[in-house]
Amino acid sequence: MQLSIIPHPHPTLRVRSKPIRRVNKELRNMAAQMLDLMYEAEGVGLAANQVNLPIRIFVANPAGERGDGEELVLLNPELQMPKGNVSGQEGCLSLPGVFGQVKRPKSIRLSAFDLKGNSVDRVVDGFLARVIQHENDHLDGVMFYDRMTEEAKREIDDQLHELETVFESKQKVGGIDSDEELIAALDPWYEKYA
Ligand code: ZN
Repeated sequence: MQLSIIPHPHPTLRVRSKPIRRVNKELRNMAAQMLDLMYEAEGVGLAANQVNLPIRIFVANPAGERGDGEELVLLNPELQMPKGNVSGQEGCLSLPGVFGQVKRPKSIRLSAFDLKGNSVDRVVDGFLARVIQHENDHLDGVMFYDRMTEEAKREIDDQLHELETVFESKQKVGGIDSDEELIAALDPWYEKYA
């Protein structure tokens, strides 16, 4: 299975992904591919929805460099105890070149599992807290611009429309399947992992 990053407005980006009930070699391989794709694209996080998988896993490294910073592969994350509020700039590998200010809790408590089945339970803050919240949102089908103020969102509307025009024109000529077909194609993943 060769994964690739899907762009806005691919419908899988709006799917609420399902919890993972099984970890196998294929899943470990897909997580490794997600890390490769993230580093190649110079990102700091990548969620399953962004590689067309409707299951709850994301990878992150706030340093954005392999071998540097903290590399995380998290399954079935849950975020609790949001504290504080801070605004910061965000971008997204599914929206190349689009950036905007997003207000989020400053710290959160993260509970999740790693690929070995070990539980992760810690309080995170700073940039890592922002990255984790952004990626966790993807698993719920939420995009960062959903959390921008209307005023800030207006500034990126043209860029979003441009990406939509490109995607929809590819669908019209059959280069990309219809939204219905793309969503139906996710079923085998639920059978395998959810
Ligand atoms: Zn993103």
